[in-house]
Amino acid sequence: MFPQIDKPENINPKDWEDWQWQVKNSISSVEELADYIEVDQKLASEIEETEAKYRWKITPYFANLMKRDKDSGGIRKQVVPTNRELHDPVGVIDPLDEEKHSPAPGIIKVYPDRIAWCISDNCAALCRHCLRKRFMTAGEEGDFSREGRQQALEYISQTPEIRDVLLTGGDPLLYPDSWLEDILKQLTAIDHVEIVRIGSRVPSTLPQRITPGLCTMLKKYHPLWLNTQFNHPLELTAAARKACSRLAEAGIPLGNQSVLLKGINDDPETMKELVQGLVAMRVRPYYIYQCQILEGTEHFRTPIEDGINIIYNLRGFTTGFSVPTYVLDTPVGKVPMNPEYVKLRDKEGVVFSNFLGKDWREPNAAPKPGTKYEIDSWRLPFNEDLTD
Ligand code: SF4
Repeated sequence: MFPQIDKPENINPKDWEDWQWQVKNSISSVEELADYIEVDQKLASEIEETEAKYRWKITPYFANLMKRDKDSGGIRKQVVPTNRELHDPVGVIDPLDEEKHSPAPGIIKVYPDRIAWCISDNCAALCRHCLRKRFMTAGEEGDFSREGRQQALEYISQTPEIRDVLLTGGDPLLYPDSWLEDILKQLTAIDHVEIVRIGSRVPSTLPQRITPGLCTMLKKYHPLWLNTQFNHPLELTAAARKACSRLAEAGIPLGNQSVLLKGINDDPETMKELVQGLVAMRVRPYYIYQCQILEGTEHFRTPIEDGINIIYNLRGFTTGFSVPTYVLDTPVGKVPMNPEYVKLRDKEGVVFSNFLGKDWREPNAAPKPGTKYEIDSWRLPFNEDLTD
């Protein structure tokens, strides 16, 4: 279930296991990519055209997974640029209006009691579907200065309603342990900050980053939660499982936030394989995000009905806690999008249709003592004509 993927023969095993070697040797040119997949002239010119607008890079580890994705393209479509990114007629650069919801550098505040804090624009691999694609603009460096961080920390410490801080970016785990520890120490010293969450894709794209040393440091700052992003079953490797086990053994609850991506994971079978594999490596499938109307990502967007159909084909057909919530993120918060299970509401209660289309009537309240109802008469599964 979690295959060991052989590294390229010409790379020293010690280097391959070293996350800093992986970062330093990230692939960001056509020539380097050609060591992992066949790059024909058309793809080469598409990449060169696209990289003038958006940066790209891929860890050697993640690129190496592409040798198994010839049929599905499940890995390469996520990280190899194509010129479709340049021809999106409807997308906008900041669909969640994050810039307008930023009371301090890097901070995004939409909900009353929690914030997301972007502390970097750097990631191990730059996903072509990234919500913050604006951070990938070629030739532009984000401002993640020390002064900005201090202002953000001051804002958090002076805003007592903030009880939950999500460290995100970019990927916070691309920073060295000591740098991260400094941030965690300062955050957890603030009385009203009850929990810290980290959003990181390294368990999928750079599992070597999850070292025993990192886990020993992180577990000093509980309650600490981590949400990651696996989008395709080919990402579920022995290395990814080892990374997730280390985090779980450090007591860090793990959740997964997939993005629904056309031609990658937009069918129930692929999603079922993904969520079942995640649970088997102790990661709870948490969200499936509807792809935003985001500049440069039109080719990834699916109709909302496709996502609802996926949930319909998971609920009841696999372990309950393997079923994520399908959500649309908006500038005013997330909205869950669910299949419709309620068939009818009337004075007697509600009739639901279950995962196999079988109906169930449930009263809204227990019968008053002394009424003629017996439990079997009002709480029966039925499929009869409901208008009777
Ligand atoms: S890891 Fe997350 S933040 Fe980084 S490029 Fe991918 S989606 Fe964007």
